Amino acid sequence: MPSPSTTTTLPSGEAVPVLGQGTWMMGEDRNRAADEIAALRLGLDLGVTLIDTAEMYGSGGAEKVVGEAIAGRRDEVFLVSKVLPSNASRNGVVRACEASLKRMHTDRIDLYLLHWRGGVPLSETIAVFEELRQSGKIRHWGVSNFDTDDMEEMGRLRAGKGAQTNQVLYNLTRRGIEFDLLPWCREGGVPVMAYSPVEQGALADNKGLAAIAARHDATAAQLALAWVMAQAGVIAIPKATRLEHVRQNAAARDIRLTPEDLAELDRLFPPPARKRPLEMI
Ligand code: NAP
Repeated sequence: MPSPSTTTTLPSGEAVPVLGQGTWMMGEDRNRAADEIAALRLGLDLGVTLIDTAEMYGSGGAEKVVGEAIAGRRDEVFLVSKVLPSNASRNGVVRACEASLKRMHTDRIDLYLLHWRGGVPLSETIAVFEELRQSGKIRHWGVSNFDTDDMEEMGRLRAGKGAQTNQVLYNLTRRGIEFDLLPWCREGGVPVMAYSPVEQGALADNKGLAAIAARHDATAAQLALAWVMAQAGVIAIPKATRLEHVRQNAAARDIRLTPEDLAELDRLFPPPARKRPLEMI
């Protein structure tokens, strides 16, 4: 089997890893911070250099954990963070971005996303993203939880074609985007960042998945990740705080799914036959 690609390309031309590290639920309890930092640092040691966070996670706590994890090794990391829709106005984005930079002790965010659509006109948020990009506070911008009609609307805006990703819920049990959103993004060369790729841990206990995984000497969670990473133009961002999970997730990059595996996975987790509204967690 051909090796799965370890990177995908942003519309800007920059290559980014197809495996990253999520941080939702991190930074909520100072007693767990040392373990969370150790997990993220182990991920970096293993080359899992894309880190996904958000101002929302732990009300800034996750960004603080990320800041500690990347201290002294900022240049290794492709750092993704998100602004809340309630901060998506012109002044709100500028303030939120400054606060995120401060919490993470860095001078730039590599990819800054609108977490989901709110009441502020998209054109206003995108205009300030472009200003932040020009001033170097962010290197790229994108969106999250945008369905196909949102992407189409954004594409009609003058600066709307600058979006570098759409981060959405995608895993074997949440395949709705394959009907129209994923093809739409592929057509435009916009990678999809798949959040909750192991369905918040639930796929780790899936018996059907475990049976296929056994053929690869792998776990069900690893197989779920390998499947996401095998989809063209898709980046998986599992969150793991247990070091064993971090190691397993990094090793999932080496799993080569066969055509038989893929066919069996389609039987167990059928692709969508019609449009379904985008699901969110
Ligand atoms: P997830 O990554 O699908 O699942 C995380 C859970 O799976 C944790 O309980 C983790 O356990 C467990 N896990 C990880 N690797 C495992 C392995 N190899 N074997 C067994 N269990 C494993 O869910 P998620 O955290 O919701 O999603 C990932 C990231 O996507 C988030 O952290 C966040 O950065 C992003 N996200 C974005 C949005 C958005 O609206 N844009 C929404 C949700 C999530 P341990 O932690 O105990 O290791």
